[in-house]
Amino acid sequence: MISFGPVPSRRLGKSLGINNIVAPKVCSYGCVYCQVGATVKKSIKRESFFQPQFIYEKVIRHIQQISKDNYPDYLTFVSNGEPALDVNLGKTISLLKKTGIPIAVITNASLLDHESVRDDLYMADWVSLKMDAADNDTWQAVNRPHPCLNFESIMKNINLFKDGYKGILCTETMLIDELNDSAENVSALSVLIKEINPSKAFLSIPTRPPSDKSIKIPDAEKINLAWHIFDRMHITAELLTGFEGTDVGFTGNIYEDILNITAVHPLREDTLLKLLQNDKADFQVVEDLIKQRLIRSTNYDGYKYYMREFHIHI
Ligand code: SF4
Repeated sequence: MISFGPVPSRRLGKSLGINNIVAPKVCSYGCVYCQVGATVKKSIKRESFFQPQFIYEKVIRHIQQISKDNYPDYLTFVSNGEPALDVNLGKTISLLKKTGIPIAVITNASLLDHESVRDDLYMADWVSLKMDAADNDTWQAVNRPHPCLNFESIMKNINLFKDGYKGILCTETMLIDELNDSAENVSALSVLIKEINPSKAFLSIPTRPPSDKSIKIPDAEKINLAWHIFDRMHITAELLTGFEGTDVGFTGNIYEDILNITAVHPLREDTLLKLLQNDKADFQVVEDLIKQRLIRSTNYDGYKYYMREFHIHI
């Protein structure tokens, strides 16, 4: 399937997904948490999968079938592998721009040494770069890269890319229990990400069945700590917990407010109490949500916080 959705996306609103990589999965990484299964062909060589015109026509046909109220906010390259492996990515973006819908690309950033990849991504309105590790060993353990890739050069090329990119740049970090969720890794990573200065640094967790079934979601304390480490570095960090919900904000619906806010960042107890007061609700709501395992409490720096409860959905 070339296009799918639109799906609600915390990052992009209504996102119409575009899969420009033909099955089976082709990627330069074999991330332990990958949700599209094991990498069948691990490659760093750009190649042609579909003709740009073919993708364009499929997307146009798809858009024509979408109702007005479901019209996409973004056309998003989120592939069955690494979208930048497609040598036609730039040409396809250029054709899709005719729709007037902004283009987003979610990339693992491993191919930014190619000038052609950087040029293709410069054309996108929104780019998210994968940054899971702050050192080579962690990178090897989490992302299981192609043997010809090099951690230091990827970091160098990410910086090179951000210097020339004019669109909205984000980073995305998947936190995995015991692999990259230590305070040391997250602190070192926050220094690297601060240098990139993204509009937003997303912190996600594996909420869907991962490629390596043995991996686990980090403890809520570690996720909370990671968010605070980024926040302390003045990085605009947002949690992606698998709950895409509705808009974040005060809606008057206390259940929705708590779930929406805790999906994005930990909610400090005093703020939560204020929220209850504003929505004229009592603490029983919080106890109900805890009982339903939708949120849980955790401590940080002398304060109690409430966060979404995390589960892998099989
Ligand atoms: S880079 Fe993306 S597609 Fe490739 S293995 Fe990692 S998560 Fe899967």
